[in-house]
Amino acid sequence: MNPFTYARAAGASDAVQQGGSDGAKYLGGGTNLVDLMRETIERPASLVDVTGFSREIEELPGGGLLIGAGVRNTVLAGHSRVRRGYPVLTRAIVSGASPQIRNMATVGGNILQRTRCAYFYDEAGSRCNKRKPGAGCDAIGGFTRNHAIFGASSSCVAVHPSDMCVALAALDAVVHLRGLGGERRIALADFHLLPGDRPDIETRLEAGELITGIELPPLPGKVRSTYRKVRDRSSYAFALVSVAAVLEIEDGHVRDVRIAFGGVAHKPWRAARAEAVLRGSPAESSAFAMAADAELAAARTLAGNAFKIELARRTMVAVLEDLAGGEIA
Ligand code: SF4
Repeated sequence: MNPFTYARAAGASDAVQQGGSDGAKYLGGGTNLVDLMRETIERPASLVDVTGFSREIEELPGGGLLIGAGVRNTVLAGHSRVRRGYPVLTRAIVSGASPQIRNMATVGGNILQRTRCAYFYDEAGSRCNKRKPGAGCDAIGGFTRNHAIFGASSSCVAVHPSDMCVALAALDAVVHLRGLGGERRIALADFHLLPGDRPDIETRLEAGELITGIELPPLPGKVRSTYRKVRDRSSYAFALVSVAAVLEIEDGHVRDVRIAFGGVAHKPWRAARAEAVLRGSPAESSAFAMAADAELAAARTLAGNAFKIELARRTMVAVLEDLAGGEIA
């Protein structure tokens, strides 16, 4: 591990003052960043600890929630208002990592965790454009069971590892940011980037900007939501495919639906084509399958991950059937 300085920020204002210096990184729970520092993939000159503030979950006027970036994953998943109103988020969080890691990990850090592509971590033996722009990508033509089927490029085929972010994408969550220039907000669905020819640039964060919170818009009372994750082991494994879905049915038809996939792209993949097919359709299995096919027609597979298309299709249909419950034909 390289030498670095450490300072604990007193609040968001203090943090962005310190975080603006060259080579500074914000430290949340450290459950990914410290691993990357041990491997010398991340080499910050200084760490600004931001875990001492933004730890509240507040009700917003109008019914949504504002979740502080320093809230631990376990606290968020277990919060009564989240469990009741946004079960897709609770289920996504508890499907990730282990209880010990969730006790440490923060909301802000979860959003910024980096891919678990094995070639990215193999600094000594593999080429990786994300680690070193222009170096090449040994995943392409290598072991690609876990890699992307949507939005990949000839520079990078990695996937985003977060479960929580998949649920947030389906919930139309909004990321609150603070930098030296002031505050701004950005939709979670727009926050992460596809790899293009610069896979090292993963988000729309500007230099020194700090995530201060996540806003969850209110959901209509009749909406149901859930998250399903398919993986190689039943715990402590990243998704091969996951689906977050929010569904509202009225008179046997889909009034509104939001679907996001995990494990398939460099960012949480909002299934806009499937949603367009479903809105106004009968809430029945054949419509769910047609919508999945519409989304997956755009998928592009690699040598080792063609199975993800059928897996994603079946998972999406099963999730929607579960949410529709007794209302489907
Ligand atoms: Fe690096 Fe992306 Fe290639 Fe993995 S897929 S080795 S992260 S460039």
